Amino acid sequence: MADNLPDDEYLTREEVLSLKALLDEQLESLLSQSKEAVNHLIDVRPPDADVLDVAVTESNRDFTLRMAERERQLVGKIRRALERMHDGEYGTCESCGAEISYGRLMARPVATLCIDCKTETEQLERRKRVF
Ligand SMILES: [Zn+2]
Repeated sequence: MADNLPDDEYLTREEVLSLKALLDEQLESLLSQSKEAVNHLIDVRPPDADVLDVAVTESNRDFTLRMAERERQLVGKIRRALERMHDGEYGTCESCGAEISYGRLMARPVATLCIDCKTETEQLERRKRVF
C-alpha cells in the first residue's frame, strides 16, 4: 500500500515512509484514547452523587470534552497530512512552497508551514493579542 504514494518533491521515499509510520501510529493511539474517554464519560457519574461530586464530575466532563475537541482537531490534522502525502505535497510549506525540513517533520509530522513561515505566523498572532 505504501507503493501507491507518489514521489515527494523534497523527501526521499524512506523519509516519507518513516513519517507516515509516525502519523499512522499517532492517529491510531488518538482514536483508541478518545474511544476510552467516551466510554469513561458514560459511566463516570455514580447514581447517588451529592452536589460536590456532581460539580467535580461536571468539571471533569468539561475537561474531557475539551481534550476530546483538541484530539479531534489533531486527528483532522493527521488525516490532512496523510492526504498531502498521497498528493506528493507533504513536506512542502503551504505558505511559501519551501521545504519543511525532515527534522522538523519528525518532531512535528503534522506541520504544514516551514519554520520561517511558522515563526512569522506566531509573531503576527502575538502582535494581534497585544492590540
Ligand atoms: Zn514557508
